[in-house]
Amino acid sequence: MRNPKSSHVKSKNFLSKPIKIVVTAGPTRAYIDPVRYISNLSTGRMGYEIARQAFRKPKKFDVVLISGPTGLEAPRGIRFVSVETVHDLENAVMRETQGADILIMTAAVNDYIPVQIIKEKLRRKKNIVTLKLRRTNDIVARVAHLRVKPIVVGFSLETNDLAAYTQSKLKRKNLDLIVGNEFSKRQNPFGENKPTVLFINRNGKKFKLTKCSKGKIAERVLSEAVAFL
Ligand code: C5P
Repeated sequence: MRNPKSSHVKSKNFLSKPIKIVVTAGPTRAYIDPVRYISNLSTGRMGYEIARQAFRKPKKFDVVLISGPTGLEAPRGIRFVSVETVHDLENAVMRETQGADILIMTAAVNDYIPVQIIKEKLRRKKNIVTLKLRRTNDIVARVAHLRVKPIVVGFSLETNDLAAYTQSKLKRKNLDLIVGNEFSKRQNPFGENKPTVLFINRNGKKFKLTKCSKGKIAERVLSEAVAFL
């Protein structure tokens, strides 16, 4: 892990080995009972694109892709860790970011999970059932608050007040860079679509990429993150 305060460590690492980058992608699942879960619309495309581009430059990057369940094929030969729940994802991220230079967290993590998983399949008897949910650990914030930490990039998806929520997440989670996506009637950033995204970094640099392919967004995420090293 590069210590940003130590120029000695930084220049030595730059000359000797590729930049170790951890990318998370896709949704997580929170089980209600053995056969049902709560999840979200994430397809994983953004994270897979970032990982693919980094993997194409083996001299520059050493990449691991941690992925929730998606229908996507990972580049053959890439170091790939498959996860399903927030708990799996947190364990994988904490393990893989040890010694890493950059964490890019595109995974769409369950913010709330059932307090208890019902042991047997929930029967269709009552008219109304209530699910009790609890907040999950914020994985990206946990890494970003470590004493020695990688450069940390987060993503946000907002249905309203994109700039304000994205800015406040950058600060609250102690991120180096955040990429905000809007979900609305006019904009759907999921899958193959070309979203308009808002980049904000810890130094106050702010810009938009308008109706941009995920390939182009991935390139920019990588270059903006590397610029911090
Ligand atoms: O869900 P939220 O808008 O807070 O997500 C913003 C960022 O935080 C994303 O990069 C996401 O991967 C990360 N996150 C996380 N752990 C959570 C929730 C979100 O790392 N429990």
